[in-house]
Amino acid sequence: MSTTSTAMPEMMKAIRWHPPSFDIRVENIPVPQIQDPDDAIVKVTLAALCGSDLHVYRGHAGVDQIHTSGHEFIGEVVELGSNYGAHSQGRPALYSTLKVGNKVVSPFTVNCGECNVCRLGYTCRCPLSALFGSPALEGGQAQYVRVPKAGGTLFNLSDAKSWTSSLSDELKGKALAGIADSSLLMLADILPTGVFAALQAMNHPKVLPAVSGRPWPASFFPGDVSTTMLAEDRMLTFAIIGLGPVGLCASVSLLDMLSAQQLPYQIIAIDPVESRREKALAVYSKIEQEGKGLGKFVAQSIDDAKKTVADWTGGVGCTAVLEIVGNTSAISLAYDIVRPFGAIVSVGVHGEPQMPFTGRQLYNKNVSFDFGRCPARAMFPLAFDLLGA
Ligand SMILES: [Zn+2]
Ligand SMILES: [Zn+2]
Repeated sequence: MSTTSTAMPEMMKAIRWHPPSFDIRVENIPVPQIQDPDDAIVKVTLAALCGSDLHVYRGHAGVDQIHTSGHEFIGEVVELGSNYGAHSQGRPALYSTLKVGNKVVSPFTVNCGECNVCRLGYTCRCPLSALFGSPALEGGQAQYVRVPKAGGTLFNLSDAKSWTSSLSDELKGKALAGIADSSLLMLADILPTGVFAALQAMNHPKVLPAVSGRPWPASFFPGDVSTTMLAEDRMLTFAIIGLGPVGLCASVSLLDMLSAQQLPYQIIAIDPVESRREKALAVYSKIEQEGKGLGKFVAQSIDDAKKTVADWTGGVGCTAVLEIVGNTSAISLAYDIVRPFGAIVSVGVHGEPQMPFTGRQLYNKNVSFDFGRCPARAMFPLAFDLLGA
């Protein structure tokens, strides 16, 4: 037996994508039903549109099946499969605590929460994972959505105690009461993805010498250091390429991490669109001096940014580059402005079949790449803390 709130309608409106491209329709389709005892049905209150929806819309994603769009949504649980209840102790906690009527936000991919991949925190690559709004799983730009493995996937925004983070339950509760749903919706993808980009850059082994003040490879070990780094060697130079919503979230998250650790930094935020650069500067101007820490932040066009990186680093390049766009020109720019022994973190969805580098180019710069989808479920507590702070 599944648990339902009230009688559900049989039909709903949904935004459906049709192949091959540029064809979006609002259609009446059946309300989804529980198909597996681990499922939940969520009544969607707000859904968002993402840059990666546009790849599909434009026909760039290699998709050929009609499906309901959207992977960012917030809503209310209206039906739970038979695996929810006190008898599910020992499984992820939501199987025993989630109730019909709870307000939930879903990470943009499903994950089980019970396998080796999920336990390691790499939740977006769970073998049972599926992306909402794809041929594999109907999306959230609809009145209702089916969430498989919901006990491993969802976050219960009605219960601040249902996850742990650096904020107390009381502060989390206050934040939940004070933050608008339109902001909580960012927790589905763009905020965790921005935090993920910043976290990977800050914690990259090749960034560690500047962060720790210990040169490579002593940065990995305690004990004596044979060469002494100068204060100027510890300057962290970051570029952020792409100042859409995820780029802004990445900027704020990076500033938060740098100021919390009181590290010297310089950030060059890059976008060819002037209004986006202005938005980034407006967001930066709202951050209190304490949150800005020990650095400077500029937002520049591509050509200006190349000059600034050269000026600020004596021609060496950036410690790390956050590539938020996911196209060939953005990743080429990242390679051009990163330093030897630098790190490039790419969180955009790349559609081109080839990367624009030769093996020799990669060798010649000792460059490291971190590619891929954000494990949004694992990143949620950090993202929520940033939103609530
Ligand atoms: Zn998204
Ligand atoms: Zn899993």
